[in-house]
Amino acid sequence: AEELLIRSEKLSVIGQLAAGVAHEIRNPLTSLRGFTQLLRRELDPARFYYIETMLSELDRMTYIVNDFMSLSKPQLVAYRNHELADTLRAVLLVIESEALLHNIAVHWDHRGGLPPVRCDEHRMKQVFLNVLKNAIDAMPDGGAIHLKMEAVGDELLVRIRDEGPGMPKELIERIGDPFFTTKSDGTGLGLMICHRIVEAHNGSIRFSSAPGAGTTVDILLPIATET
Ligand code: ADP
Ligand code: MG
Repeated sequence: AEELLIRSEKLSVIGQLAAGVAHEIRNPLTSLRGFTQLLRRELDPARFYYIETMLSELDRMTYIVNDFMSLSKPQLVAYRNHELADTLRAVLLVIESEALLHNIAVHWDHRGGLPPVRCDEHRMKQVFLNVLKNAIDAMPDGGAIHLKMEAVGDELLVRIRDEGPGMPKELIERIGDPFFTTKSDGTGLGLMICHRIVEAHNGSIRFSSAPGAGTTVDILLPIATET
């Protein structure tokens, strides 16, 4: 049976935590990275591996902190009317080479003529990027991503479907929880950020999946009422 869940209520506390902690951590991280780099010059080259590991781990911390920071700045959001198809197309260009590398074809029978959506384009790009990256991660040995965009009542539906292994019910329930990841190199922040952004747009994001049946992500956003 397919599992369908809507998650949005989990997120508000996280945003509040993010603002303070992320900001305070960013500065010491920058100085740590700088001094670590300086240390490399004085170190026995046989120990370079230590420094390289430290640098890449520091970068990972910075990446997580930046993700958090992006959650805690709602005042910078700029809502304008956008053709969401243009936004999606721009993101497809970004992931094209990675998809190609993994033998993943992207299918999109786009007919145009869709109504604009009032959104922050930069943030919507982030949402599409996160969801598409997850789809690519789910199909390391190739497959297809199917895209669909259509007006459904007073909302625009963006459907992103993959042919990966899918997710059991227990896993669907946990996606969007901060730091929940099943990947060795994952941060477990991508979908939490997606939830938060979509929620700020008065939209919703839904996951529909079952083991062996791939995953379908539906993003619904209100159609713009004024121009
Ligand atoms: P990350 O990608 O860093 O692991 P996300 O928040 O983007 O963090 O995703 C959380 C988890 O949800 C993933 O680790 C994976 O287990 C699961 N997941 C997300 N999208 C998919 C998908 N398309 N197919 C299968 N599993 C997925
Ligand atoms: Mg992800």
